[in-house]
Amino acid sequence: MYPEVTENLREIRQRVSEAEKLYGREPGSVKIMAVTKTVAPEKINAAVAEGIKLLGENRVQEYLSKKDQYDSSAEVHFIGHLQTNKVKYIIDSVSLIQSVDSVKLAKEIDRLAAKHGRIMDILIEINIGDEETKSGIDSGTLKEFALELAKLQNIRLRGLMAIPPIGADESAFEQMHKLYEELKAYSGELPNAEIDILSMGMSGDYEMAIKHGSNLVRIGTRLFGARDYTKVNGGVTVS
Ligand SMILES: *Cc1c(COP(=O)(O)O)cnc(C)c1O
Repeated sequence: MYPEVTENLREIRQRVSEAEKLYGREPGSVKIMAVTKTVAPEKINAAVAEGIKLLGENRVQEYLSKKDQYDSSAEVHFIGHLQTNKVKYIIDSVSLIQSVDSVKLAKEIDRLAAKHGRIMDILIEINIGDEETKSGIDSGTLKEFALELAKLQNIRLRGLMAIPPIGADESAFEQMHKLYEELKAYSGELPNAEIDILSMGMSGDYEMAIKHGSNLVRIGTRLFGARDYTKVNGGVTVS
């Protein structure tokens, strides 16, 4: 039904695999996430049928309107900016929250995870371009922030996420890699951490991200085609 999804995914997989080879990464070590904003559930399910195991959600309202139609064999990560008062809507259906960027948000995730009798996996989002309009913590405060989160027993810190500015030069990716390796090195000081995810790379820059240690690339446009925001009406995808 969606031959373009099959074809796009074939190409993405090939390029990921070539990048792994070229940059000395272990074959199969980079996971491909399908980013679903504005995409209709049937089309998302076509990607899952082709073997996609991980979906990325940006907006709580849109996610809630679509999630019951998703093929449940894929895991869902929340990757968009998350308001503290909306954690309650996603706590029981996502497997990881990639966009943790405040202690207040982390505390609410911790509180609700406890209530649901689970441990919630999280990533810390870094504002790597130091862009004023973007979410994410300042890279200089990472260790302090991670130590603060380490007091929360119902979250498990798995690593880092970033959205480098469009057209960012290579140094942003290098810097993320360095922060990730440093975090791993001091993770012995973080009782709730098991650091194994560096989430960076999107449609335009995933090969460069793989070069610099990413093991989770988040792909939207390359997989599903250009986003049509006119079809998302009040958070409900109508087509
Ligand atoms: C939209 C989005 C992506 C995917 O972007 P593309 O350029 O369409 O691949 C990845 N990560 C986040 C956080 C996003 O919001």
